Amino acid sequence: MSELEFFGHIIDNAEVDSLDGGRFDVWNPWTREIWAQAAEGSAADADRAIASARTAFDEGDWPRLGRVERAKAIHRLADLMERRTDDLARYDTVNMGKPFEQAKHDVARSVRNFRFFADHQRDNVGEVYPMDSGHHAYSEFGPAGVVAAISPWNFPLMMASWKIAPAIAWGNTCIIKPSEDTPASVTLLGRLGAEAGLPPGVLNVLNGHGAPAGASLTGDDRVDRVTFTGSSTTGKYVMASAATHLAPVSLELGGKGANLVFADADLDNAVYWAVEAIFRNAGQICLAGSRLFVQDEIYDEFMARFKAAAEALTIGDPFDPATRFSCLASRRHFEKVASYVDAAEALGGKIHTGGV
Ligand code: NAD
Repeated sequence: MSELEFFGHIIDNAEVDSLDGGRFDVWNPWTREIWAQAAEGSAADADRAIASARTAFDEGDWPRLGRVERAKAIHRLADLMERRTDDLARYDTVNMGKPFEQAKHDVARSVRNFRFFADHQRDNVGEVYPMDSGHHAYSEFGPAGVVAAISPWNFPLMMASWKIAPAIAWGNTCIIKPSEDTPASVTLLGRLGAEAGLPPGVLNVLNGHGAPAGASLTGDDRVDRVTFTGSSTTGKYVMASAATHLAPVSLELGGKGANLVFADADLDNAVYWAVEAIFRNAGQICLAGSRLFVQDEIYDEFMARFKAAAEALTIGDPFDPATRFSCLASRRHFEKVASYVDAAEALGGKIHTGGV
């Protein structure tokens, strides 16, 4: 076990084990091996992380730092992320099987998110509203307090960056709980936050499972805002939990999209994008084009081309540059997807290609 990497919690800029020493195994879905362990966050660990973020917000420099200095610190973090692109990308690839080239693309987008929000908060202006009777009404944007952010495994770093970057840019302090399937890149992000000089408590990382770690964050009345991306079922729990202390919630939940292809479409283009829509990231995208409606007149030709294009995708080792998609993110997810294929057949659907 000693050669396994370890991902602790990042609390007050220090990487720490769980108070009770609890850890869980982290799997590489491509090799089907345990390659790391992560700290299993308990309610007591969540308490520590919230207390740290609360103190940093109530007493620390960050919300009072001024927009220019905050932007500089976030750009320093973005610089470090850029320098560590390969490490961040490797972690997402090993953690959930995303092809390495795509993982590097995700890192670049995550860096841009930090830079975008660092600059945007400096330029964001409020409004003055015309009022009768001598009143003066205006709006301005300010921090809300402690933000609890909970993210999924399909874009481990990027989903987290969309939550952390706007939160800290506006002067909030944040606790991110990455998915238990993919703790690595977000923990490295927390380490880089400390290296970039973010004050202690501004960016805490709490590793662990949905319950107790995630639920202990959303239900705590010291948390002012909750942001969640994940499944619709969990989203309902998160919303109900945040409602117990009236914390506003943002939810990005399960989606999936329909593609419509009409008879007058440019078929090369339509086939290319229909294949991209469903197979990129092995279909593990909330807006994946998982339903395809094709006009009768072109159905046979479209299906033949779609099948050929799908079969031409190179499946394999996520570190091989030729690989277009690799394994699914976890055994649990594989079993879920396989059950959908079985259900489709049971309901009279025809499987045109593929199989394991
Ligand atoms: P999930 O809901 O199982 O888990 C998401 C996160 O919530 C994880 O960090 C998990 O540990 C945590 N969690 C679980 N139970 C919790 C609880 N009771 N309290 C607090 N936190 C809890 O989702 P998943 O399987 O990791 O992610 C895949 C889902 O995310 C898919 O449905 C996908 O469509 C969706 N998704 C949506 C978007 C979007 O922008 N709408 C983007 C990406 C993914």
